[in-house]
Amino acid sequence: MRIGVLALQGAFIEHRKKIEALGAESFEIRSGKDLDRQLDGIILPGGESTVMGKLLLELNMTKTLIHMISEGIPVFGTCAGLILMAQNIVGEERTHLGTMDITARRNAYGRQLGSFCASGCFGDETEIPMTFIRAPYIQETGKEVDILSSVDGRIVAARQKNQLVTAFHPELDDDNRVYRYFLDMAERS
Ligand code: GLN
Repeated sequence: MRIGVLALQGAFIEHRKKIEALGAESFEIRSGKDLDRQLDGIILPGGESTVMGKLLLELNMTKTLIHMISEGIPVFGTCAGLILMAQNIVGEERTHLGTMDITARRNAYGRQLGSFCASGCFGDETEIPMTFIRAPYIQETGKEVDILSSVDGRIVAARQKNQLVTAFHPELDDDNRVYRYFLDMAERS
């Protein structure tokens, strides 16, 4: 199993460590050529979605990624990655990849509560720790989207077929269940 982690900006190294701790291979996606490599799944990390979206366009990677996702490659977006994948972003006209039928609200917890830790259920599992950093939440989901996790009534993890998103940063916590879930998606696809 080989997972490519988008490494243009943001928190990608921690994702690689998690993937490798679970026995899969990882590599960094830095340009369009890296998308031609043998690839069983893609992680879009946290960071700054506007910067990442701009870099994807500049490097001519946006259309290729949209195509790969629509063809079914498993993709996992955390935080800014979730925003990249959202079909709608509250208060913004432009979207980035726009592959997932969700509406994201950026920096949704305000400045005071910019970063915090919480815990919540993920899928059918017991509680997992969740670290939020200037996080978005999902304000609305389309019909094909399964909600995997809500904290205080706000949706913070969801899946639509081959697409998984979390508003929190599972790469920063000592718990691998979200990665097991994603690797399982990749194995089955
Ligand atoms: N606030 C960032 C954005 O809007 C996301 C923050 C993160 O990825 N930790 O892109």
